[in-house]
Amino acid sequence: MYSHHHAVLFPLLIGALYYLGAYVGVHFAALDSGIVVLWPPNAVLLAGLLSRPPRSWWPLAMVVLAAEVAADIPVFTITQALLFGAVNITECVLAAGLMRFFLGQEMDWHRLKDLSVFLVTVFFIASPIAALGGASVYSLLVTDETPFLTFWRLWWIGDATGLVILTPLIHMLFNAGPLRKMARTPWFYYPELIMAGIFSLMACYLVFSWGLHSEEYLALTPLIVVLAPIWVAVRFGPMPGSFLATMVALYVSFATAAGVGPFIREQQERSALLTQEFVVLFIVMVLYLAAFVHQNRRKSYRLRKALAEVKLLNAALEDRVRKRTSELFAANRRLTTLALTDELTGIANRRQMRTHGEEEVRRSDRSQHPFSVLLLDIDHFKRINDLYGHDIGDRCLQAFARATDSVLRSVDLFGRWGGEEFIIIVPDSEHVDLLALSEKLLDHVRNLAVPVEDNQISMTVSIGIAQWHGTSFDRMISEADDALYEAKAKGRDRAEFATT
Ligand code: GH3
Ligand code: MG
Ligand code: MG
Repeated sequence: MYSHHHAVLFPLLIGALYYLGAYVGVHFAALDSGIVVLWPPNAVLLAGLLSRPPRSWWPLAMVVLAAEVAADIPVFTITQALLFGAVNITECVLAAGLMRFFLGQEMDWHRLKDLSVFLVTVFFIASPIAALGGASVYSLLVTDETPFLTFWRLWWIGDATGLVILTPLIHMLFNAGPLRKMARTPWFYYPELIMAGIFSLMACYLVFSWGLHSEEYLALTPLIVVLAPIWVAVRFGPMPGSFLATMVALYVSFATAAGVGPFIREQQERSALLTQEFVVLFIVMVLYLAAFVHQNRRKSYRLRKALAEVKLLNAALEDRVRKRTSELFAANRRLTTLALTDELTGIANRRQMRTHGEEEVRRSDRSQHPFSVLLLDIDHFKRINDLYGHDIGDRCLQAFARATDSVLRSVDLFGRWGGEEFIIIVPDSEHVDLLALSEKLLDHVRNLAVPVEDNQISMTVSIGIAQWHGTSFDRMISEADDALYEAKAKGRDRAEFATT
């Protein structure tokens, strides 16, 4: 994540900012009495620790110790400066360590839980504990005018205020890559952001600026300064929100430290406390609002993305189901064809012909137009089998089926009834000359010559014909069978009509 370059530059940056923070704290955030409204440098160190793994903490601590000594040396002895440094480093390491322990991951200002852990750790654990050390150094080594508990409380609240106000912003600036983030911000957000900034500045000026805030002139509630940061936090998230909020909080703190604004009281301690309460509550409010709104926004974004993915998956699934279904239909069609087709000759089998026959019976029942059934049985087929074998017999059956089929019209239905018996259904046979058809069939079969080795097999067939006369299909078959028997009896190679 960070190179050697950063391994050197980052501690130096922390050191410089820490020194700057201490300078600002002493010169701009402290009241005449020395009470500090907010102590900024610790936020620099804590933000630094939060953005680095613990094994990279010690260079930060060393650099900060040097910066502390450099900042303190004009006022304090070297021992006092080193002790103050140690106290501040302890405070930040304690806070960063506890946060790391409680969160188990990188601090994320978009999450309410992380925010709560930060606030509790900083305000109620790290600062009050460190303040024990700070107050001890003060009352033992610097001055004993002020009681220990007062020192402790001032140190605690001042440190905690600085940490709460500044850590989020500095940490976000260290981590989020503000330039990258700015590059992604659409241009039309900038007028709004700039307007919010101007509004904040004006509000701060009106409420806290010298002179304007006086009883007889104008009494503006300090809450006005809260509006724009809240707006920005809700609209743009934790980073811009905390940026504006921190700027306002610094303005408020510096104004009070300079002795102006609505929080000034007779006792400087009370002025400091009022300001601290105000800025801390205000920052907490802004941070929570930003986190709350943007956590939900992230969630709904993720939800929308997941939904889109599910939709895509669903479409793919539907596609597959469609494909499978059509495959299934095709397979079904193949199966149906197989179930209704004679394997050897490829024409309709007995089952299909029976279905057709029963259908024709129903049709004739309705229309009273008759249809006819022709049963064909090849003459002396056993001989062919005996002479040439079963395989040649099969080939003869195939040749017979092809030849017969070629004689028939497309409306005629032709199938294998079984063995070497075939069936023809002639629909609407009123105007069909069945005798002529039979003759044509007989003739065709007679002329058939199935080549085998250097020989040729010829066949004849006998035909029995039955016509519908209100009869069932089975009845027609049996009548045609009788006629066929008759044809066989009369010498074969001929057709006979059923006598009814
Ligand atoms: P007919 O003139 O009286 O009909 O004499 P036929 O020899 O044809 O006697 P029949 O019809 O009773 O016998 C049919 C023979 O057809 C019996 C059987 O060996 C033969 N056969 C039946 N099915 C098949 C088949 O799928 N392939 C072959 N090669 N022969 C079959
Ligand atoms: Mg037979
Ligand atoms: Mg036969």
